[in-house]
Amino acid sequence: NKTLLQVRDLSKTFLSRKGWPVPKTVAVRAVDGVSFEVGQGEALGVVGESGCGKSTVARLALRLIEADGGSVRFGDTEVLGASKADLRRLRRRMQIVFQDPASALDPRQRVGEALGEALRVHGLANRRDVRTVVERLLDEVGLPKVAADRFPHEFSGGQRQRIGIARALALGPDLVFADEPVSALDVSVQAQILVLLERLKAERNLAFVFISHDLGVVRHFCRKVVVLYLGRVVEQGPVPDIFDTPLHPYTQLLKVSSPNPDPDTAVHMAFQEGEPPSPVNPPKGCHFHPRCPHAMDVCRSVYPSLRKAGDGRVVACHLYPE
Ligand code: SF4
Ligand code: MG
Repeated sequence: NKTLLQVRDLSKTFLSRKGWPVPKTVAVRAVDGVSFEVGQGEALGVVGESGCGKSTVARLALRLIEADGGSVRFGDTEVLGASKADLRRLRRRMQIVFQDPASALDPRQRVGEALGEALRVHGLANRRDVRTVVERLLDEVGLPKVAADRFPHEFSGGQRQRIGIARALALGPDLVFADEPVSALDVSVQAQILVLLERLKAERNLAFVFISHDLGVVRHFCRKVVVLYLGRVVEQGPVPDIFDTPLHPYTQLLKVSSPNPDPDTAVHMAFQEGEPPSPVNPPKGCHFHPRCPHAMDVCRSVYPSLRKAGDGRVVACHLYPE
């Protein structure tokens, strides 16, 4: 597959004021040197616990927030340095679907207006044919034509996510960032939305950056996967490799603690209990060492660089040779 999106060394530190009674400014390294590629029509999963930087990666790549450093190439264009005009063109080709579609829809705007506005702003439909294009979009995501005349609150969560997807598709993108697109939905509705995304992916040859904490969903939907821990890539590679034989102890933890672990591999490892450490003060050395059953002395002082661990596969862990 031809490379569509190439992310290199993407980094972002947020400053926030924390503490009581005297707040101090603290630096939070939300994304720290993240690199990956997505080919045309290919789905890449980004997994990790909440707060690991998954959503921030998407927002940085889309320039919804500005990165501190690194590079994001979409086709032949550098996104991070793109002019306003270039960015407008890029926005047509890169879209996002949010976890909570309600937050992405204006409650006072009818669905048809919301979809039509995007089409008109980008010159993809004129006043006469906009209704037809909107109805075709609604049909494509499994909603009736009359949905155009209704307001977002008149729909169920699953239907609202279909509207969110229609909005992302309106401009004919090549790549969709899907940020936990089914996490807020009932399990039965989740399956329907995943079937829809699967169909759109095939029919439109859409590429996806599919952000999820649910390994089962990523395994099903994606070909490659990036595992993030406190803003860093700890393991990356083809889905079958990573899910069948996870190398990084954190990926192993995600696998055994996922809602539907494979019974034959649900080995109980001596993982330390508790929440992931805060990105405000990540532990020295390997960020994962306080929870890792294999931690060695070197892990407490030296951050393990990413090393090759097979075809198209890398892992950041001292258990494996550099
Ligand atoms: Fe565990 Fe050390 Fe590997 Fe970190 S580098 S995951 S602490 S073995
Ligand atoms: Mg998130």
